[in-house]
Amino acid sequence: MNVLRFILGDQLNLNHSWFKEVDDSTTYLMAEMRQETDYVKHHIQKVVAFFISMRNFAETLEKKGHRVIYLKITDSENPQNLEKLISLYVEKTGVGKFEYQLPDEYRLDSQLQSICQMLKIDSEAFDTEHFYTKRHELKDFFKGKQQLVMESFYRMMRKKHDVLMNNGQPESGKWNFDQSNRKKWTGNPKIPEAKTYKKDVSSVVEQIKSSGVETFGNLDEARFHWPTSRIDSISLLNYFCGHLLKYFGDYQDALHTYEKFLFHSRLSFAMNSKMLSPKEVVDQVLEYYNNHSDEIHISQVEGFIRQIIGWREYMRGIYWKEMPGYANHNKLENYNKLPSFYWTGHTKMNCLKHAIGQSLDTAYAHHIQRLMITGNFALLTQTHPDEVDQWYLGIYIDALEWVEITNTRGMSQFADGGIVATKPYVSSANYINKMSNYCTDCHYSPKQKIGEQGCPFNALYWNFLDEKKKHFANNPRMSMMLNLLEKKDKHELRDLKRRAKDIIQNPEKY
Ligand code: FAD
Ligand code: SF4
Repeated sequence: MNVLRFILGDQLNLNHSWFKEVDDSTTYLMAEMRQETDYVKHHIQKVVAFFISMRNFAETLEKKGHRVIYLKITDSENPQNLEKLISLYVEKTGVGKFEYQLPDEYRLDSQLQSICQMLKIDSEAFDTEHFYTKRHELKDFFKGKQQLVMESFYRMMRKKHDVLMNNGQPESGKWNFDQSNRKKWTGNPKIPEAKTYKKDVSSVVEQIKSSGVETFGNLDEARFHWPTSRIDSISLLNYFCGHLLKYFGDYQDALHTYEKFLFHSRLSFAMNSKMLSPKEVVDQVLEYYNNHSDEIHISQVEGFIRQIIGWREYMRGIYWKEMPGYANHNKLENYNKLPSFYWTGHTKMNCLKHAIGQSLDTAYAHHIQRLMITGNFALLTQTHPDEVDQWYLGIYIDALEWVEITNTRGMSQFADGGIVATKPYVSSANYINKMSNYCTDCHYSPKQKIGEQGCPFNALYWNFLDEKKKHFANNPRMSMMLNLLEKKDKHELRDLKRRAKDIIQNPEKY
């Protein structure tokens, strides 16, 4: 029977069993669609990276002999609507069956299910063969448990997949080296130059613009930072192992004004688009480590592996366990608008200026910039989680809802009331000053709380604790902070709250 197989833009897994055999009765369908470019306003680099990666993927399939229909954003026969696209090509190809891979996003999952109900032919959904876990594996693992603790999920994953294990015990006797992953970077060891790619993106950019797709952010056509093929992705992974892994764990949480990437891998786009699988990333890192264990400490490797088989799989599992309700959580009852400088980087607060500025320039910020700078400020200013989600979903190269919303609404904004995080990730200037050099040449002083020079994070932090304390009354991890709040001088607290109110009402002044 002739089959039409539909492939989404983040399903670029060349190792999928679908492609093992070349078969003339199978046609693959891919399309650059307005519903995907427009569900949120995306960073220009994100749209460019997805389109080029999709085109490269389709070309590789064709070279292998597969039959492929590929519709560019500018193609006049592209109906720009998923229902119409699938119906049209089911009819045009005269197939007897429609097949697709399970989408990672709830939105597309529901849409494809309803399209299949409407079709008059058989349909079937296949696993993407990308993740370590099945969609509902986390849900089953935590069945009957009150708390969905990441660490217990991570240990199960280490055991189940025999990663860094030795006769049933964690290698070198410890599960977790988190405590040694918190160094500040002050100039040494030297950070190797970021791997970039020379590729001509001008025609794709032109096509995006001429189609009327609205984007934001900057693009340096001479230095494109993102892999857009399997070969690029593998070379980025090799680069990470050979140049960055050695110090990854130590400086995982560090922040620096002029070092955007530090020792981070920048592999999230290659993985989220499925050009690389998490298993091959983990296997390659382990192989490199085993061959260089005299120069690479296990803490660097464990810190990295935890992100992939721990956090990444955990977030996906939470997403499928909690959606669709998760997208509406606002447990801390935050209703403010996101400050407009999130779209420009124009602020006197040096940490935000750099974290936002670099995000606009590169479509990238590393985890601690996302969590403890932009996320922290959005939460302290009590911004509506919808606004925060929209921003994160648009700006980052790797942003797809399954991993964006769980990190943003959950880990960063505590809007889920503690499903993902056990306490809100908020801090005053103290933490930022400890982990970065941002405060050194800032207009504000991290030591001062009020007055012209007082760092806005300080007033906002105490105000947040005071305004939201009812939400944390039964949270043992917040008791120390709330005790300190309780002991605060009433006049000092009043002044802090006054300043915080002004920052919240006029963030652009700061
Ligand atoms: P590295 O630091 O080199 O880490 C290696 C890999 O581990 C990453 O590529 C990623 O696949 C995985 N990883 C690390 N931390 C996490 C995490 N918390 N959750 C899931 N995977 C993780 N990640 C996304 O892939 N897409 C997003 O849209 C996204 N949004 C985020 C929003 C907020 C508010 C926060 C705090 C984090 C978000 N993250 C997101 C997680 C993390 O920040 C990025 O995965 C990471 O910065 C990507 O850069 P990297 O590849 O250099 O990561
Ligand atoms: Fe950020 Fe405050 Fe430090 Fe300035 S002083 S960089 S605003 S934490």
